[in-house]
Amino acid sequence: MPNNERLPHEKMRFQLVLRRRGISDQAVLRAMEGIPRELFVEASDRVYAYRDTALGIPCGQTISQPFVVAYMTEQLRLDPRHRALEIGTGSGYQAAILSRLCHEVVTLERFKTLAETARRRLAATGCDNVEVVLGDGFDVPANLGTFDRIMVTAAMEEIPKALLERLEPGGILIAPVGPHNDGQVLVRVRRGEEGYDSENLVAVRFVPALPGLAREL
Ligand code: SAH
Repeated sequence: MPNNERLPHEKMRFQLVLRRRGISDQAVLRAMEGIPRELFVEASDRVYAYRDTALGIPCGQTISQPFVVAYMTEQLRLDPRHRALEIGTGSGYQAAILSRLCHEVVTLERFKTLAETARRRLAATGCDNVEVVLGDGFDVPANLGTFDRIMVTAAMEEIPKALLERLEPGGILIAPVGPHNDGQVLVRVRRGEEGYDSENLVAVRFVPALPGLAREL
């Protein structure tokens, strides 16, 4: 594909940008190098796949900026034994990155089209430890069990207690918290033996988390 000729150079610069912006976890950098972001963006955006920007995807949603994906992944401190939950599959890209760093990923999406496309892309990129579930992150199906790590990739006005309860003791959840359509802060919550500890990391901007399955496709 003629449009993709410049991608090797762009991919090299992509790694440099992530390092320069402070990503230092080698496993995270390797995962970012190994997953072809161009397969998770719209065909018309492939030439921009290795720019450090968010891009539009169907259903009015976005694939996050690569730096934010790398940063959130690094802050989640994944271990190869972990079982992780993502809320907000979108393109499937973040789930693909998580899948390279832990044992198993379950990712929930409220739009059927997005869930189906992501499922296909994850299969095509060999991410066979990811389960894409059509569902609502405000009401995570009980049969999915509990998780060592939870990453929310849509902004929540507050983190539901029911979601925190899905964390294993010692578990970590990371989520953008704040008003819809305005800036939010990335919050990291750890579940201790006795309760939860929460810390604010950085300012971010995400599309809103909305309750229930989407009525459109
Ligand atoms: N992580 C994605 C980007 C997420 S955009 C990626 O790597 O591409 C946020 C996604 O969260 C959107 O696809 C949106 O439909 C989804 N979402 C919003 N509210 C949700 C909810 N309650 N449950 C599940 N998914 C939700």
